Amino acid sequence: MAHPMVVTKSPKSVTALDPATNASSAASLAQASTQQLYRELLGRFHEDPSRDGLLDTPKRVEKAMEFLTHGYTLNPTQILRGALFDVDYDEMVIVKDVEVYSLCEHHMLPFWGRVHVAYIPNGKVIGLSKIPRLIEVFSRRLQVQERLTRQIADAIQEAIEPQGVGVVIEARHMCMMMRGVEKQQSTTVTSAMLGAFRSGPTRTEFLSLVRQQSGHQL
Ligand SMILES: [Zn+2]
Repeated sequence: MAHPMVVTKSPKSVTALDPATNASSAASLAQASTQQLYRELLGRFHEDPSRDGLLDTPKRVEKAMEFLTHGYTLNPTQILRGALFDVDYDEMVIVKDVEVYSLCEHHMLPFWGRVHVAYIPNGKVIGLSKIPRLIEVFSRRLQVQERLTRQIADAIQEAIEPQGVGVVIEARHMCMMMRGVEKQQSTTVTSAMLGAFRSGPTRTEFLSLVRQQSGHQL
């Protein structure tokens, strides 16, 4: 297995990043702490990282980014363990309007909205409180909305092998709203339908349930 590049946090890492030669600047980058890297970035974006208001910003950004990407450290199997129950129930289970916050992987800007999850059990259900946890596993990473939708559906499919799963996400993207096309009112809707949700009355029922009661302002 290939090892991902690791930026080490060394307390006595270099203070200046050296752009002079590629080799030594790559080495300096790898040595620099996360906070040093953010301090450097502040300077690149025309700021003075040493002014009062920005002194602790690298520390705060590091903490925020650790939280916003902590989904990489979560394991869906572990989260669902102990929360799968045998049932004799084969009607649709639907969990609607779960808030979701994520970061788009293209711009590292937030997108946020609501997730609707439904499935038809095949002998097993997931404890209801675990659905929002499962959404956290995949949303607290760099994402594209389409993949996030699909990963939630696949994780449920894998965990309980239901008759079908449907996931719909309605979200707004900061990268569209505050830059680029500046489409402030647009909502992006994505869906992933597996098994019984792929077509027919189940799909229609799920989509109409989502549409019916989803009168929220995102
Ligand atoms: Zn984006």
